[in-house]
Amino acid sequence: MTKPDVIVIGAGHNGLVSAAYLAKAGRKVLVLERRSVPGGQLAASTTPASFALQPLHPGGRLRADIVAGLDLVRHGYAADSASIPTYVSALPDGGLLRLSASADDAATLESIRRLSARDAERWPEFVGYMDRAARFLDLAQRTPMPRLANADILAQGRPLATLAWKLRRLGRKDMFRFMRFLPMSATEFTEEWFESEPLKAAIGALAVHGVTIGSMSAGGGYTLLHNWLNRGGPAHRPVAGGTQRIAGSLVAALESAGGQLRTGAPVAQILVERQQALGVRLESGEEITAAVILSGADPRHTLLGLVGAPELPPEFVWQTQSIKMRGSVAKLHVRTEGGHGLPDGTLVIAPTLKYLERAYDAAKYGEISREPYLEITTAGDVVSIHFQFAPYLLRQGDWQEQRTTLESLAIDTVAARFPGFRERVREVQSITPLDLEQTWGLTEGDLNHGQLILDQILFMRPMPGWSDHRTPIDGLFLCGSGVHGGGGLGGASGRNAAGAVLKSP
Ligand SMILES: Cc1cc2nc3c(=O)[nH]c(=O)nc-3n(C[C@H](O)[C@H](O)[C@H](O)COP(=O)(O)OP(=O)(O)OC[C@H]3O[C@@H](n4cnc5c(N)ncnc54)[C@H](O)[C@@H]3O)c2cc1C
Repeated sequence: MTKPDVIVIGAGHNGLVSAAYLAKAGRKVLVLERRSVPGGQLAASTTPASFALQPLHPGGRLRADIVAGLDLVRHGYAADSASIPTYVSALPDGGLLRLSASADDAATLESIRRLSARDAERWPEFVGYMDRAARFLDLAQRTPMPRLANADILAQGRPLATLAWKLRRLGRKDMFRFMRFLPMSATEFTEEWFESEPLKAAIGALAVHGVTIGSMSAGGGYTLLHNWLNRGGPAHRPVAGGTQRIAGSLVAALESAGGQLRTGAPVAQILVERQQALGVRLESGEEITAAVILSGADPRHTLLGLVGAPELPPEFVWQTQSIKMRGSVAKLHVRTEGGHGLPDGTLVIAPTLKYLERAYDAAKYGEISREPYLEITTAGDVVSIHFQFAPYLLRQGDWQEQRTTLESLAIDTVAARFPGFRERVREVQSITPLDLEQTWGLTEGDLNHGQLILDQILFMRPMPGWSDHRTPIDGLFLCGSGVHGGGGLGGASGRNAAGAVLKSP
């Protein structure tokens, strides 16, 4: 490509969404990705292995308006399957609680009724509320946030006023529920709805999934809703052909609009002069200039690693250093000889709310949970295990030493519920928080480029005063999960950032 108008750093789905929208709007766009494959967290590791590595994500979907806006189905995106996947919790007595996001699914109601007739009666109302609240959160994620101190009330206040009006239109009951539930802990939230402990814990697990909080931490109501929105209910929706296909369709959309992707092109520095972005320098030394740079890498890496503190105002440097990045998720792929006995769907090991809190307690003290919260999906003979909590910062030893401990704990925890599992295990591949940093480029192994917690959402994401994708460097924008609209796989932060670029003078 001759001199691009726009450089996008990182080919995660958010970077690709931004790039495809900007290319569609007629900009000459070049995407630079450090890895040899596009997709960011949608892409598997490229480490040679005796069995094909599974992607990190068992499922995922972009927001429907992005799929339509970029014509992604024509570019290979797999449309949502009509069947609703099941969310299964392994009960302490060896039974299974099976839940589906369909409010009136007879099998779900029967499964809950075995624990509590009252909870079965409440389930349809719960699902109805969660779906409506998730639709509202989706609207909020689509709405660009004002920069508060710098807000131009007329230009930036109108979208927010529209959002407030839509909140009011949820009706009095849902509006108050929405505002009350977001800051609650998983324990408080689920106790308002249900009486059966296994049901409360199965739902509570969604509130701690992917973030370093416990079932008693404030703000679980928000993460629960975020994950419900991200998945379209409690269970993951598998993508035909794997999540890499989402990235493939975005690359095809980008290229068909004249954009270009270069993989194996790590950016070492964003070139800045007098607080104006001029281009980038790759690790190879090559320099590429462009008037606009978007970064889909996390804000800490972009601002402190690629721009550098000397180019930024001191208070902004302090705010960037203060972004909470606290990865505590590990992932394991276990090849079995088949017949592993695990059910289909999204299986969780989260028997009680206190179990979830204790699993988190370990992370607080820099330890790997001895009794972890697990979320397990299967694809044929391969069993994939999401493991919480495994903190990036270990109090004792390092991740090289602790890898085998992690693997044993995961297998022991599954085998305690499914006794035939251990004998079927043939090979284990583990991805520690350190691997997430070194291979996937995630600072401190934080999946969402910054914790999804109450003081880091909406107009406080990535930090107060900078929630409109801009930075103190003119021409440099942020588009990844660490800004408003992220994390998760929806793509809202990428689309909103492209909008901010197109609107800027
Ligand atoms: C095991 C696991 C489970 C998850 N479960 C959930 C869930 O249930 N719900 C949920 O909401 N979210 C979940 N997530 C988080 C979700 O996957 C992320 O929020 C999302 O994928 C981030 O997408 P992104 O495009 O913003 O960034 P990424 O996918 O992280 O992409 C960033 C890209 O930038 C590239 N890059 C970085 N630095 C440079 C550089 N210097 N030069 C060039 N390229 C660079 C990286 O290589 C990467 O390709 C999960 C993540 C994992 C790993």
